[in-house]
Amino acid sequence: MEFETVIGLEIHAQMKTKSKIFCGCSTEFGAPPNTHTCPVCLGMPGSLPVLNKKVVENGIKLALSCGFTINKRNQFARKNYFYPDLPKGYQISQFELPIAEHGQIDIEVNGTEKTIGITRAHMEEDAGKLVHDDVEPESYVDLNRTGTPLLEIVSEPDLRSPEEAVAYLKKLHAIVRYLDISDGNMQEGSFRCDANISLRPMGQEELGTRTELKNMNSFKNVQLALEYEERRQRDILLDGGSVTQATLLWNPDKNRTESMRGKEEAHDYRYFPDPDLVPVVIDEQWIEQVRSGLPELPDQRRQRFIQALGLPPDDAALITASRELADFFEAVCEEYNNPKKVSNFIGTELLREYGPEQISQCPVSALQLAALLLMVEKGTISGKIAKTVFAEMLTTGADPEKIVKEKGLIQMSDEGELVALVREIIEANPEQARQYRDGKTKVIGFFVGQLMQKTKGKANPQLANKLFSKELQ
Ligand code: ADP
Ligand code: MG
Ligand code: ZN
Repeated sequence: MEFETVIGLEIHAQMKTKSKIFCGCSTEFGAPPNTHTCPVCLGMPGSLPVLNKKVVENGIKLALSCGFTINKRNQFARKNYFYPDLPKGYQISQFELPIAEHGQIDIEVNGTEKTIGITRAHMEEDAGKLVHDDVEPESYVDLNRTGTPLLEIVSEPDLRSPEEAVAYLKKLHAIVRYLDISDGNMQEGSFRCDANISLRPMGQEELGTRTELKNMNSFKNVQLALEYEERRQRDILLDGGSVTQATLLWNPDKNRTESMRGKEEAHDYRYFPDPDLVPVVIDEQWIEQVRSGLPELPDQRRQRFIQALGLPPDDAALITASRELADFFEAVCEEYNNPKKVSNFIGTELLREYGPEQISQCPVSALQLAALLLMVEKGTISGKIAKTVFAEMLTTGADPEKIVKEKGLIQMSDEGELVALVREIIEANPEQARQYRDGKTKVIGFFVGQLMQKTKGKANPQLANKLFSKELQ
């Protein structure tokens, strides 16, 4: 029996604002516990929330970037539940009237494009954090995170495989980072995802019973957790059993999902409009003002790199994976206008050491990389030596000219200098020389290799080839 996988994602993106959503407390990560708190985010009776305008602006930015309809009048609602990290006894969220509905983004998996619907995006506040003591049977409550602004983005159940889910997640991650509305740090929890997954017999319209997976703090874990859960549900269904609706936690150490809570604990949140907050009214002028400040988005930038710069689609996708990387690439191209060569070098030598999100930590500046590539272009050093020099630049941050000079890596492009060595090598290898003259011209590779060894890779390879074929005749 064939099954179809159905996945829908709920993403929480922490907004990159200086202060919290309803008070002036700082959102800075890693401060001593309970130092970024005030009566509002501690939920003191009588305190009143005041909405942070920046949060709404971020919501508008996302909405405009993903084809959402903006609800020009939207409303905060109280989501009631009891938990020790939630001092008010309710979370301020949006329910019936979220800021944005009916969005979509395009993803590409194995060369196939597909549009994924986004049901809604709404603004809400984060809860605090519980820290459980490893030894004592005690727990601590840190309310620094309470009131941190979030955008929750809920997809339609349009995803059909773990690969599609990860592609969607990566696309949204890139978008919020391009928009600079979230830092997207998955380890620190500022970009979290819950995945709902179910299977149904191929061809069946009705959705199967789903499980919800939590606690996946990397793209890799989302992929692994969904693959695991897909297998687990398939095995149950093939056995004639039925899947139990549940919330499961991904355990990355044991590579499996574990039960967190069952359906019997499903909540009734008793949502109602928050009487402390007036409805949010967004006028056309504000929308247009935000629209005019939008940056170029990943898809647009990729298209421009393909069309205007002539990059192959795969290279363009790689280079636009993050805004920093695309900026870095363009800065290099400004000095050395050869996009294909720049993207090749970045794709192999730079991305091997630094991921697309880590470019700001790379000690090599765009100017320095351009200088290095220009040295190859001018024939000062070979492409091979350039890789060695770059590795050194990555560790020391030194200028390529300095490294090349200090280590004596300048390419040997002088015929007179090389021809003596070429003759010496031919003389020392009469057997290979005879093979060459007998028509086995491929042995020229052997000779060039010998010369490279002797010159520590500094001989100009084109010149070496030319000299050997001339001297061997
Ligand atoms: P809840 O609020 O209880 O988490 P929602 O109906 O809002 O439930 O759905 C949450 C997410 O789960 C959405 O992304 C939705 O697309 C997805 N989803 C809903 N039903 C299914 C299903 N049967 N299989 C897979 N995903 C589903
Ligand atoms: Mg849910
Ligand atoms: Zn506060």
